[in-house]
Amino acid sequence: MTLAEAPGKTSVEPMIKINEIFHSIQGETSYVGYPTVFVRTTACNLRCTYCDTKYSYYDGELLSQEDIITKIQSFGAQYVCLTGGEPLLQKEIFPLMSQLCDLGFIVSLETSGSKSIAPVDSRVKTILDVKTPDSGAADSFLLENLQHLQKHTEFKFVICSEKDFDWSENFCRQHDLLKNFTVLYSPSYGQVSERWLAEKILKKNSTARLQLQLHKYIWSPETRGV
Ligand code: SF4
Repeated sequence: MTLAEAPGKTSVEPMIKINEIFHSIQGETSYVGYPTVFVRTTACNLRCTYCDTKYSYYDGELLSQEDIITKIQSFGAQYVCLTGGEPLLQKEIFPLMSQLCDLGFIVSLETSGSKSIAPVDSRVKTILDVKTPDSGAADSFLLENLQHLQKHTEFKFVICSEKDFDWSENFCRQHDLLKNFTVLYSPSYGQVSERWLAEKILKKNSTARLQLQLHKYIWSPETRGV
């Protein structure tokens, strides 16, 4: 008998602070283009220079696992993406991910890799967003996480400059990532162009995959309502 089941004790359901849950098109990773339910958790331990989700640092409401799952199911999508903020700041996220996998969802996790991914369910596709120098959060990646990779783990680097590009290439080379994993290079929106990054990848003979943040194009003010 657990403490929570003991007579006279009431079990307290674990709660997760959630910033938003919404249905959209996956704009990144190898799941790009799939209708996906995004679960954005509240709080982040980093402050990247280009962060476009600052609103997730503090705002949110405490929801139970059951409430979150009910909301996810209401959209009828197959894909669920846990994002933030930094989802791994709340330990209750681990059983939620497992429960979603048990229910048959295709689950992905976007994390900076600054917290341990060891407890992540192996059925979850983890996308490690390794922070480059110009993000302002370089050296936040927990190298120990390289011991807990799955075949389907993906690496993402947001490139803000030439320095970032070279740094990312070195990181991949040093840890043998390009041969063994999907490695995605994204141009930092508004800082370097897609074309600049494409040319850089070709010129340097990199085998990283160019990734455009599809959602930024779909939902940009220029295309909205067209
Ligand atoms: S890790 Fe993500 S949410 Fe956190 S500051 Fe960086 S870009 Fe923003």
